Amino acid sequence: MSVLAQAGGRWRSAAARAVIPCLWRGKYFCSGKEPVENNPVTPMLRHLLYKIKSTGPITVAEYMKEVLTNPAKGYYVYRDMLGEQGDFITSPEISQIFGELLGVWFISEWMASGKSAAFQLVELGPGRGTLTGDILRVFSQLGSVLKNCDMSIHLVEVSQKLSEIQALTLTEEKFPLERSAGSPVYMKGITKSGIPVSWYRDLQDVPKDSTADEAAPRQQRLEEAVLGYSFYLAHEFFDVLPVHKFQKTPQGWREVFIDIDPQVSDKLRFVLAPCATPAEVFIQHDETRDHVEVCPEAGVIIQELAQRIALTGGAALIADYGHDGTKTDTFRGFCGHKLHDVLIAPGTADLTADVDFSYLRRMAQGRVASLGPIKQQTFLKNMGIDVRLKVLLDKSAEPSLRQQLLQGYDMLMNPKKMGERFNFFALLPQERLHGRSHQMNARQSEPSPSPVAGFSELAWQ
Ligand code: SAH
Repeated sequence: MSVLAQAGGRWRSAAARAVIPCLWRGKYFCSGKEPVENNPVTPMLRHLLYKIKSTGPITVAEYMKEVLTNPAKGYYVYRDMLGEQGDFITSPEISQIFGELLGVWFISEWMASGKSAAFQLVELGPGRGTLTGDILRVFSQLGSVLKNCDMSIHLVEVSQKLSEIQALTLTEEKFPLERSAGSPVYMKGITKSGIPVSWYRDLQDVPKDSTADEAAPRQQRLEEAVLGYSFYLAHEFFDVLPVHKFQKTPQGWREVFIDIDPQVSDKLRFVLAPCATPAEVFIQHDETRDHVEVCPEAGVIIQELAQRIALTGGAALIADYGHDGTKTDTFRGFCGHKLHDVLIAPGTADLTADVDFSYLRRMAQGRVASLGPIKQQTFLKNMGIDVRLKVLLDKSAEPSLRQQLLQGYDMLMNPKKMGERFNFFALLPQERLHGRSHQMNARQSEPSPSPVAGFSELAWQ
């Protein structure tokens, strides 16, 4: 029996929360309205019913983790859910300009931070590999700028199916792949432009530094520009990490769990824990909302990124839909480009929750500086999306291609579409924003650091 069930209290149905206003309640945070024929007993549902029967109700975080990434039946593990035929579409799949501008961002940061002799680009949750592919095209086009720079690509991906698609996108089967299922580096290859690429299931397994020799003190290596920078990229990755959900009640905060509906044996429903649960420590003392979602896994990843960036330099660029600590109930499902009841037919739909950027900022604090979140529209404008669109339009005579470019631009930039829903957030070494003058001899002077592209207008130096 679970700790909660042992506590002996009674599980309350989450329907009790209906009196407390919650954003999107009814639309997303609901179950029970679907007719039985729309609630097929999927293999994942059967697995969850067994699990709950034997160990008691599960947290929303455990539910998300099982449904999305269970190695045998997880939604992400064996399917390609992206694109028109799938369940949702993402910015890199909509327009090549998106990835190209992100490629320019990394080059701009690489230049601003001293043009290290080597860097590694690490993408978390790379989907079909389209974004890294577009970034690498920019790196090739700007080869004269990056010449002599040693680059490698590292992809953190749990999905077997998607990792195969990524390999195809990036290598075009020009070089054979090396596979090693049991190893932390489960696949290795060479991209079509000749850059080594490796796949991992966990960020922890990605090398911390692209240069092997860590013997020299960090300051000396920074001065000599021999420290291998790492650039981290996460696009629509944090929103699929498991969240815990909490509801404020007259008795205090109570965690939302998932249980079997006593009325229908193969149906799930939300319940509130009868007493406080350990995960409650994640709630801020001065929290004013009545419903919160917390993603501890995101906190762990941000702390790891912050520690790495503070150690070796580099940057992390995170783009996702989300809020700055203001939204409440955002847990929802998508299937076939439509909203989907999160408790129905688990394993057949994507599950997601908005990213709380205020939480990410808190988790990074002290080690590195953070910028954002700023709206996608602002970020892309600052990166020169209008100029890039014009160049591509001028180059393309075919009306259907021009139409596609314009539609893609509208989707990315329109405030009613992705322009205001998506945000950019960055982690950077403290000295990148504030300079290193405090560490320098008083007689030495250093120009103030250049603005960070995207968060201000792009300016090549
Ligand atoms: N970044 C891509 C795909 C977004 S979908 C794009 O924008 O098009 C989420 C991606 O994260 C998928 O590649 C999925 O397989 C991967 N993913 C989900 N959970 C993960 C986890 N815990 N660790 C690593 N990758 C994960």
